[in-house]
Amino acid sequence: MIPRVVANIDLGALRRNLDLIASLAPNAQILGVVKADAYGHGIKQIVGSLARCDALAVARIEEAILLRDTGYAQPIVLLSGVLDLDELILAQTYQLDIVVHQAFQVQLLAGLSQGNTIRVWAKFDSGMHRLGFTTEFAAIVAELETFPIVSDVVTMTHFANADELDNQFSLAQLNRFDQATQNLNHPQSIANSAAVLRYPQSHRDWIRPGLLMYGVSPAKEIPFDGEPVMTLTSVVIAINKVAAGESVGYGQAWTADKDTRVAVIAIGYGDGYPRHAKQGTPILINGKRYPIVGRVSMDLTTIDIGNDEVKVGDEAEIWGKSLAVADVAENAETIAYELLLNLTSRVLIRYH
Ligand code: PLP
Repeated sequence: MIPRVVANIDLGALRRNLDLIASLAPNAQILGVVKADAYGHGIKQIVGSLARCDALAVARIEEAILLRDTGYAQPIVLLSGVLDLDELILAQTYQLDIVVHQAFQVQLLAGLSQGNTIRVWAKFDSGMHRLGFTTEFAAIVAELETFPIVSDVVTMTHFANADELDNQFSLAQLNRFDQATQNLNHPQSIANSAAVLRYPQSHRDWIRPGLLMYGVSPAKEIPFDGEPVMTLTSVVIAINKVAAGESVGYGQAWTADKDTRVAVIAIGYGDGYPRHAKQGTPILINGKRYPIVGRVSMDLTTIDIGNDEVKVGDEAEIWGKSLAVADVAENAETIAYELLLNLTSRVLIRYH
């Protein structure tokens, strides 16, 4: 049986990316972001290759428990914190670090007097206006320090657009964070992937790379020498002649302007490939890029191969080592993050 779509995960590339990241921020510890099943790479299967991380971060408590169940014994940070006392006790039981960003979470901690101590990551809202405290931040940190259940406090903030080259807002956010923490003496964490690459002054004590670990730069204009960890491949299952004036696929969305040949690739939105990928989105066969023509359908995608020697059974790279996922994302008006983690369960994942 020939699998139609395979996501090849290169664990060596993951380890090398982490070595590279560590060399970029030599004085910081690494909090590797592995939410959403490690950005679609499969946390259970890759966790053994994350030894270079000093801790891992997830968004949801279920993700943290799953990670603990793999035997992962290093710190795990719950990026969105807890919602009620039951979750707090669960976090305590599983020895999770929690981000605290709302007053009710401080109250929950205040009411907890027994059990394991908890490290708290106090979040400052430096301008993203999503999670975090603002003017009251220093007072909150001071209060947290008085709780016997709180072992340590790390202060943190998050950038809104560190991946946009012409944007100065990250520097303003950094400045606000420095002001808010000027009388505090705690470890600090600010930098996501883009800031790891662009703002060394934000590396501080803990960097928080996500996308970078998987070998993908957060923006085309920001170079990163890492290797894509995931290479998604499919296969050519049909080749057809299409005469000038004939159209291809649903909605007759593309019409050949000259006689040509169209290869049918066994991937579609049923695999998580973006239906909105524009005409012209590249797919790679034998090292050459071919443009998508017609609409992406559930199981099939069509490309114009002209007179090239492409044959049924040839492998097609959808994204990965030789075709940047960012290129596909740009053509589908989305971001690499979404493409990587949108793959559906019928995609075979192979770990090498
Ligand atoms: N830190 C926080 C708080 C996040 O929410 C995320 C991801 O969205 C990251 C770090 C990692 O971001 P990136 O994948 O861009 O490195």
